[in-house]
Amino acid sequence: MITKRTKSIDASGIRKVFNLASRMKNPINLSIGQPDFDVPEPIKRKAIEALEEGFNKYTPTEGLVPLREKVAARYDFLQASPDNVLITSGVSGGLLLSFLVLVEEGDEVIIPDPYFVMYKHLCKLTGGEPVFVDTYPHFKLTPEAVASAITERTKLLVMNSPANPTGAAYTEDEIKAITRVAERHDIIVLSDEIYEGFIYEGEHVPVARHYDRTVTLSGFSKTFAMTGWRVGYAVAEKSIIEEMAKVQQYTFVCAPSFAQHAALLAMDHDISQHLDRYRRKRDAIYGGLKGNFTVERPRGAFYIFPRAPGGDGNAFAERAIARNLLIIPGEVFSERKSHFRISFAASDEDIERGVAILNELAKSK
Ligand code: PMP
Repeated sequence: MITKRTKSIDASGIRKVFNLASRMKNPINLSIGQPDFDVPEPIKRKAIEALEEGFNKYTPTEGLVPLREKVAARYDFLQASPDNVLITSGVSGGLLLSFLVLVEEGDEVIIPDPYFVMYKHLCKLTGGEPVFVDTYPHFKLTPEAVASAITERTKLLVMNSPANPTGAAYTEDEIKAITRVAERHDIIVLSDEIYEGFIYEGEHVPVARHYDRTVTLSGFSKTFAMTGWRVGYAVAEKSIIEEMAKVQQYTFVCAPSFAQHAALLAMDHDISQHLDRYRRKRDAIYGGLKGNFTVERPRGAFYIFPRAPGGDGNAFAERAIARNLLIIPGEVFSERKSHFRISFAASDEDIERGVAILNELAKSK
């Protein structure tokens, strides 16, 4: 009855974590993939106003023109116009449309491992073959590793900077070097930049700045804490955007109307005060763990991905859960099970309590 297509997707890892979580009472929850602050007030007010003013109908499939213009202006280095922009139902919507438009049966998709779970499964769903490039222990692709993963069937290279689940963020030079390899082989880069607002040192570097055959996906979910509002965008060459819009027309139709109006205002909103808080949280968690764990200091996003003492992230996460601390085993995001993911989008108190438990567990093997 059920198609092979959906059967190829295995959600058991993450489901197991959620099942465990639902049985925990008031856990110290360091597993959450969204900011701990609420949507900034002016953005909320704008959404309410939009609802009251009657913006409750479909918008054009491509999204509201002023929002597309505003997004295009951010990609002035591409001379982007609204024709290069599609407003999507979150970055998830943009990811599904990108895979549907770009990946064909048998195409290979290079995915850096660890990875955000959707890449692997959308790739399989659309008939592609994920080719994982192991990026342990520093969690960054190198041009050499990308070059050696390329075959005649390679269609796409997925990049995600800053990254979920590691917090790794590429420098300008690293992006230049990797995109030169993609260019040499004429491979499209699918760049998920949803965490671009959370960068703690230096600047976020858009991949498209160095390679015009990039499909950039970004949005509002994380930067403005509006994960439930479902607005994101894709920026790419016009021919790709047109195809994505065609599929959007027959699937999502459009991103939520009121949320697009609010997103337009959000584009001018400054979240630097939250960024300072998140940098302090990053420092607290990294500083708290580095004595007892092998761990990289994340430069972006709000995740950190330490190695589990003993090298079994599943066993370690179970021990943490037994102490009422919820973390996610690395296997959910990787072909390896040696690490675990912590989200520091949590209160300072929970971070402090979580760090204390993790250190106790590390010392009492
Ligand atoms: N990409 C990455 C790397 C993510 O972590 C997430 C959310 N967890 C998404 C995409 C999906 O974002 P959205 O809520 O905008 O669909």
